[in-house]
Amino acid sequence: MRYDIIVLGGGPAGITAATQLSRSGLSVLVLERQRVGYRLAQARRLDNLPLLAPTSGGIVAATLAEQAQRLGFEVRRLEATGARWQAMQREFVVETAQGPLLARRLVLAVGLEPRRLPELEVSERVAYYPTELDALGVRQLAIAGSGEAALDGALLFAERGAAVTVYAKALSPTIVRALRVEAEAHPAIELCEGAPVQAVEATAGGLRVRSQQGLRPHDALLIAVGRALAPRWEQLRLDAPRERLYVCGDAARGRLGQCALALGDGMSAALSIVRDWGSP
Ligand SMILES: Cc1cc2nc3c(=O)[nH]c(=O)nc-3n(C[C@H](O)[C@H](O)[C@H](O)COP(=O)(O)OP(=O)(O)OC[C@H]3O[C@@H](n4cnc5c(N)ncnc54)[C@H](O)[C@@H]3O)c2cc1C
Repeated sequence: MRYDIIVLGGGPAGITAATQLSRSGLSVLVLERQRVGYRLAQARRLDNLPLLAPTSGGIVAATLAEQAQRLGFEVRRLEATGARWQAMQREFVVETAQGPLLARRLVLAVGLEPRRLPELEVSERVAYYPTELDALGVRQLAIAGSGEAALDGALLFAERGAAVTVYAKALSPTIVRALRVEAEAHPAIELCEGAPVQAVEATAGGLRVRSQQGLRPHDALLIAVGRALAPRWEQLRLDAPRERLYVCGDAARGRLGQCALALGDGMSAALSIVRDWGSP
């Protein structure tokens, strides 16, 4: 299949770009490997979007999905496993498990991949996204990480009634102050600075986490130790012409950004594509 534009990623950046592009009459396909707004759905509370009252990431993600459906452009639940620029044909080939797809322009809005710690992945009780733990009914959660995603996850589970221990070398100085104050004050959250996770053992129905605090039992471990753009997209950025490939949102920054930035990037990419559409 050939499209004017393929958008990789159905987060705020990708859905905003697709919305504006389809309004302009171009044929658009969004590929999303999970659900629309999957990453956003992990956020406990979004309170820095001035057009919305503070609300959970899950609600914003659901709104994004509804809007995408209402606006009528095509969204396929399908992973892009790679993409390359074909200079002769002047088009992109996007690889998927259902075969290749073609497009004249590509919007890369895939967000970031969690940095993995394979040595700690001892069972399915070790996760990188809070939603992966939903079915486990976690009562005692360990979190490995020192940034905003770690504290956001700690508050999310503490508000659900779990006891949470955050294991960190040192909490990041860039954490938003309000988030840090809230986590420090929460009676169900224990912040163990100077005690990063050293090892994890699987036990019957749980885990044991080793740190400077000794060996302690937990139901599950959430790893939140940073994010990066997947290497295959770094290569595409080097290979594709700048005026054909538009990189938006977190993918453009290489670190966890902000929803409002992603929305703005998506809109900006769409307007640039429409403006330059007629050029060779
Ligand atoms: C815990 C947490 C708390 C946060 N709190 C806030 C906050 O309070 N305020 C705020 O403004 N922001 C917050 N953020 C950040 C915000 O969620 C991101 O900045 C925003 O979602 C980035 O949007 P994006 O469209 O660039 O990428 P994403 O939202 O990451 O969307 C990328 C999408 O691409 C999909 N994808 C990835 N690879 C592929 C592939 N190969 N094929 C197909 N699809 C693919 C992913 O499944 C994902 O749905 C928070 C994030 C987290 C994790």
